Amino acid sequence: MSIKLLVRDTAEKIAAGEVIERPASIVKELLDNAVDARASRIAIEIIRGGKDYIKISDNGVGIPFAELPVAFLRHATSKITSIDDLETLSTLGFRGEALPSIAAVSKIRFLSKPREQLTAGEIVFQGGQETSYEETGARDGTTVIVEEIFYNTPVRLKFLKSDNHEASLIGDITAEYALGNPHISFLLISDGKTIVQTSGNGKLRETLAEIWGKNTAAALIENDFVSDLITVDSFSSPFHISRGNRRQQIFFVNGRLVKNQLLHSAVEEPYRGVLAYKKHPLALINITIPATETDVNVHPSKTLIKFHDERAVFSAVRSAVNNSFKTANIISEQQQPLVSQEPQPTQHTITALTNRTPLNQVRETGIQNNSPYEQFEIALPYLRNNEGKSPSLFPLLKQIGVYKNSYILAEGNASLYLVDQHAAHERVLYESTLAKLQTQTMYSQQLLEPVIIELTPKSAVLMETILPDLTEMGFEISPFGGLSFIVQSIPTIFLKSDIAQVLLDIINDIDQNKVKIKHGFLAEKLACKSAVKLNHQLHNNEINKLLEDLSACEEPFRCPHGRPTIIEISDNQIQKWFKRILS
Ligand code: ADP
Ligand code: MG
Repeated sequence: MSIKLLVRDTAEKIAAGEVIERPASIVKELLDNAVDARASRIAIEIIRGGKDYIKISDNGVGIPFAELPVAFLRHATSKITSIDDLETLSTLGFRGEALPSIAAVSKIRFLSKPREQLTAGEIVFQGGQETSYEETGARDGTTVIVEEIFYNTPVRLKFLKSDNHEASLIGDITAEYALGNPHISFLLISDGKTIVQTSGNGKLRETLAEIWGKNTAAALIENDFVSDLITVDSFSSPFHISRGNRRQQIFFVNGRLVKNQLLHSAVEEPYRGVLAYKKHPLALINITIPATETDVNVHPSKTLIKFHDERAVFSAVRSAVNNSFKTANIISEQQQPLVSQEPQPTQHTITALTNRTPLNQVRETGIQNNSPYEQFEIALPYLRNNEGKSPSLFPLLKQIGVYKNSYILAEGNASLYLVDQHAAHERVLYESTLAKLQTQTMYSQQLLEPVIIELTPKSAVLMETILPDLTEMGFEISPFGGLSFIVQSIPTIFLKSDIAQVLLDIINDIDQNKVKIKHGFLAEKLACKSAVKLNHQLHNNEINKLLEDLSACEEPFRCPHGRPTIIEISDNQIQKWFKRILS
């Protein structure tokens, strides 16, 4: 094969493919441009997930008529003049690629009027060719209409997902930009329906409420971390609010939306062992760091970022989230009525908590709240955020009784406490098991009588996949013909448990897409299996031991699944209930 230069048209399409993968990437690039144009209002309208039609209007600075064709030249940008400018970059765009890339794969109409110009200009491109360029009338700012996306690149067109899916991706990106720019009002209308709408009043918690819903936003805990190099401002969720995916962990670095695995890990660190398996916290993180410490020119989409000092960034983010986390641990005080899973109608204090705002529209398009602990989101009030105060400690408890052989009554700290004996015991067992799994490089013991377990074909496949992990943790398990496996040794901490049951449980619960058994998962399973049940009578000394062990836990306030272990009813609250005091 001889080497030939690509004809311009082909080269354009290839380059466009790197920036423009789907309708959501067009929206992202045009949002970048509107934000860079210092707009205070941005409206987006899409039809059929953006496949048929995308229109974005902004009230930003606009482009002078004479410069319209220039904006569509590859590598034409008003934002940098030399590579050194990347070190002081304050705009989102800088590669001068978005407009020519969109123009190469669609029909694009670009209408713009700078405030100081009397008339507007309009330029139209189809498949990269200019088809019209004239003066016209329009309001200040810019409107871009993109149609017939990928009409000339059928492979890309085929690669697109359903209209709903593409619309939800545009919903996500718009919501993310709204969260990153609380001073800009965003409006997204999809097939005539309003999907995202923010006021742009600059108040981040209000934007959060507009995007994630009022109750979630109110429960988020705000904190920051400041060092010479890095500032992190964080909003993160309390224990009782979580999601089944990481789509509500959003990161901005110097105002730029970024995707970076390291940042997700940093946010999740403080929640380890507190949230249930496969549950993820919500977080909105704004990082400010000198541009010289980062590289945003890693990929044409400019959402990937490299940090020169990854470790410093990781620990700064973790610290910010961790601070929030430690200050909001116990359920207590004024906002806290006697919590029950069935709210009692006579309790006026509960009204505010059950009066939830309906899931907002963004969630309807895909950001699902699929927490199995939804009921707790209703029952629990916002956790206390003692900004500036030192973290509240686990109270010194004195047992005063037991209710229904399930809930320990205790007093301490001038309050009455209810402790869920199962949840508390689970937490205690979880932490001790985890510690053992992590530190004692597995004392494994051979079973006198090997256990044989029979699996279904699907489970047998899963078992094969997790065998290396189990071996590493001290299990000795091997295939035993057909769908059977023989267990010959187990870690000593499992000696007392029904090992077949524990293993079956593990297999049933593992995520089939992510078959990696972690210590935390194993500890959670074991703790749940072995913890004392409700309706089980404990002796006084057992109760005392349980309260003492719980108080020694690292995260005593939650069971490993994120449910509360203890509830405080303050003396103040009790006096209010009996109308001894009024407020
Ligand atoms: P980049 O954003 O990397 O500079 P683009 O291809 O996205 O490249 O845009 C090219 C230029 O067109 C920008 O540098 C900017 O000057 C101008 N421009 C694009 N969109 C807008 C807009 N909505 N308002 C004002 N100017 C715009
Ligand atoms: Mg741009």
